[in-house]
Amino acid sequence: MTKTDVLVLGGLSGITAGISCRRHYPDKKVTLIRKEGTVLVPCGIPYIYGTVGSPANNVVPDGLLEKNDIDLVKGEAVDVDRERKVVTLADGQTFQYDKLVFATGSMPLVPPIPGVDKQNVFPVKKEFDYLGCVLDGMAAVKDLVIIGGGFIGVEFADECRKGRDINVTVIEALPHCLQMAMDDEYCAEAEAKLTEAGVTVRTNAKVEAIIGETAVRAVRLAGGEEIKADMVILGIGAVPNTVLAEKAGLELGFRKTIKVDRYMRTYTDPDVFACGDCAEKHSFFTGRPVGVMLASIATAEARIAGSNLFSPVHQNCGAVSVFSTMINGRAFGVAGLTERMARQAGMKIVVTTAEAPDTHPGGMPDSCLTRVKLIFAKDTGTLLGGAASGGRSIGEMVNVMSACIMHGMTADAITQFQMGTHPALTSSPIGYPIVNAACKAVLPLRD
Ligand SMILES: Cc1cc2nc3c(=O)[nH]c(=O)nc-3n(C[C@H](O)[C@H](O)[C@H](O)COP(=O)(O)OP(=O)(O)OC[C@H]3O[C@@H](n4cnc5c(N)ncnc54)[C@H](O)[C@@H]3O)c2cc1C
Repeated sequence: MTKTDVLVLGGLSGITAGISCRRHYPDKKVTLIRKEGTVLVPCGIPYIYGTVGSPANNVVPDGLLEKNDIDLVKGEAVDVDRERKVVTLADGQTFQYDKLVFATGSMPLVPPIPGVDKQNVFPVKKEFDYLGCVLDGMAAVKDLVIIGGGFIGVEFADECRKGRDINVTVIEALPHCLQMAMDDEYCAEAEAKLTEAGVTVRTNAKVEAIIGETAVRAVRLAGGEEIKADMVILGIGAVPNTVLAEKAGLELGFRKTIKVDRYMRTYTDPDVFACGDCAEKHSFFTGRPVGVMLASIATAEARIAGSNLFSPVHQNCGAVSVFSTMINGRAFGVAGLTERMARQAGMKIVVTTAEAPDTHPGGMPDSCLTRVKLIFAKDTGTLLGGAASGGRSIGEMVNVMSACIMHGMTADAITQFQMGTHPALTSSPIGYPIVNAACKAVLPLRD
């Protein structure tokens, strides 16, 4: 039996929790157990099929663990005895812990569509060898169908067209791709970029069956239309990986995630913590449970969990949901609530927009038009959400919006925001779109 102070089960958020623990409690022995031989950059998975070219070019280096003096054990935890504080691996090894962190993540959702188990139908697993096999198989593909037009589906579609002369069709049941994440005008812009990349976008379309003998030949839509397919990728969401947690007697909550408090301690056991996709999330805005799974949230929770293992330090303020993507060279991002979400929740809001080139003058090389939208609460003037499309700067622009949201900044406060500007790097100080959208909201908020 190996003894350790802290035992972490998992990958991405597990590494982060281990590093956070090391920073806060340098004298503790930290051991990470993970099933996967290699941890992939999960958000980079679609790029294996285009830009980065192979799973080997998309890994989180284990050097991070060595550098932080964290012991790595490759193996699957199959039993947790919370009375004795002992975890057993599939190969029989046992580990005794003082504190245990569940960071067991999520698995792709496989819908109960008839034919989903046919050859060449692939859920997006975060597994190195598996994704390599999908890549090899794609060499012979002529008609690729992607079920699900969320960010995973559209990123796959865009990447799979790169350097391949194949037909790629995205099938989305909602009126727009990305509709769960963005407002309609941004969805429409994203769909136009996909179409421009040669992807066929089918919205308001529901897959009823996957057909073929042993391997997929086509997908059938409700209504009977068949779309030719010799490979199908399922990009319709993920479910938490909490079978072991349930077996260990930990209380599960919303959609079978592990119930945790603001310190990321499980409800059931003060010596067991959970973070990342396997842990329950609450909205920053309402405090209600939400089903969002993002690496940004997972790693924030992991930092909190790691810091609190032996003494409470940080509290989780809830999931803001910040997200960005790139489609055919144009970036899209959202922080917090969309206009649709706020209206559906019955909130009184003021919505403003602004646009400007992301360089000044706009004639600089590689200049790109940035479009920004901000959503403010009518009664308090605080920022509830923001969206943007444009060039690479969008990734950080929505992060700025997230900071404003998390710290309750009002339109008045953002108006006074002092942003650094440079001709080649940002919009002009006169036209800076976040500030200008906030300026436009000041009077309507006073009405
Ligand atoms: C294709 C794709 C693209 C994405 N893009 C983005 C993006 O652009 N931005 C963003 O914010 N989020 C993105 N996400 C979501 C993000 O990847 C997840 O939120 C993130 O991976 C969660 O991290 P995690 O550590 O909680 O779980 P996971 O990444 O699922 O890791 C869990 C780990 O635990 C291990 N494990 C599980 N059970 C055991 C066990 N019993 N014993 C030992 N080890 C175990 C697994 O092998 C795995 O390594 C994307 C997801 C996918 C699939």
